[in-house]
Amino acid sequence: MFEIKENFSLKNYNTFGIDVKTKYFLEYSSVNELSNFLVTQRKQNLPLMNIGGGSNVLFTKDFEGYILHSKIKGVEIIKEDDDNIYLRVGAGDDWDEFVDYCVKNGWCGVENLSLIPGNVGTCPIQNIGAYGVEVKDVITELETTEIDTLKKTVFTNKECQFAYRDSIFKREFKGKHIINYVTFCLNKKQIFKLDYGNLKNELKEYEQVNLQNIRQAVINIRESKLPDPETIGNAGSFFKNPVVHADLAENLKKSYVDIPCYFQNTDLIKIPAGWLIEKAGWKGKNIGNVGVHNKQALVLINNGGATGMEVLDIAKEIQKSVKDKFGIDIEMEVNVV
Ligand SMILES: Cc1cc2nc3c(=O)[nH]c(=O)nc-3n(C[C@H](O)[C@H](O)[C@H](O)COP(=O)(O)OP(=O)(O)OC[C@H]3O[C@@H](n4cnc5c(N)ncnc54)[C@H](O)[C@@H]3O)c2cc1C
Repeated sequence: MFEIKENFSLKNYNTFGIDVKTKYFLEYSSVNELSNFLVTQRKQNLPLMNIGGGSNVLFTKDFEGYILHSKIKGVEIIKEDDDNIYLRVGAGDDWDEFVDYCVKNGWCGVENLSLIPGNVGTCPIQNIGAYGVEVKDVITELETTEIDTLKKTVFTNKECQFAYRDSIFKREFKGKHIINYVTFCLNKKQIFKLDYGNLKNELKEYEQVNLQNIRQAVINIRESKLPDPETIGNAGSFFKNPVVHADLAENLKKSYVDIPCYFQNTDLIKIPAGWLIEKAGWKGKNIGNVGVHNKQALVLINNGGATGMEVLDIAKEIQKSVKDKFGIDIEMEVNVV
């Protein structure tokens, strides 16, 4: 049976470390427990939100409803052949522990996504990605409970409509489904993706390229660049990298010859938001309790005691100054609540 906590602080449930309260907080360990709760909760008509590791949310005020936290756990092998293994994983499992488990078993596909905070159930929502890999590459399907109908639904990879830091669960199904299980297909053959960023360089430090060393190299790079939420509150990249029309990028190149441009197709170009924010003068800047990280301008940090509104105000100022300087809109990646 579940226990409902009242006026519960979310400070330890969001990596920004924002000190807000939720009216009610509840953890559930099975799909049945979740359904039972939803039946009783429905009569109250209060807002409801699921939270995983809280590493992609910014709370701007107290939450006047129910925050739910999945403790549905466990990895189940559902089938395997000579090439692949299929794993069904509980939404409440820790993402990086799952990556570690796969690496230790010699299964390829998620090693580049090492050390991303959060839970397994949340990884599909924004299609987490790093070092040239997106989680959509290894998800085959996921299972949800639809909040309004309590219907259990299976979404295939295609039905999730994955895109860059995006899926159907960030759009039309936002807040409508709770993800309970995710099924992954991993490779037993040792096929690695090493082209992205400085991963190849970092791997030169190792005698051989294998799964364990790739994981360690990714961890080393991330630890050298990104603040650890355990010590400095943050939610990783606060903004998405904008994709702009090639004409705009060409024009900008005349004034900023070093602007990094990554072709998505002949018409569309992705520009790193961190570069734009840095050039707009924000890198390392601190305003009150909020800062822009001095190694990665894409990361906003809580210098201690920041409120969610303070973080949001700075984020909006950054958006405005990037728009004024480059004519580019940068969209927030973090879910503002
Ligand atoms: C230091 C740091 C580095 C990061 N690096 C990366 C990176 O390299 N790449 C990347 O893509 N992301 C990165 N992130 C962002 C974040 O870790 C991911 O988006 C992660 O998947 C969020 O998981 P979470 O469990 O913490 O989600 P939460 O923040 O708890 O929730 C995110 C959203 O999902 C919803 N949600 C939570 N659980 C469920 C559920 N079971 N069913 C339905 N909806 C649910 C919430 O309501 C919320 O809207 C980073 C964050 C930090 C702090």
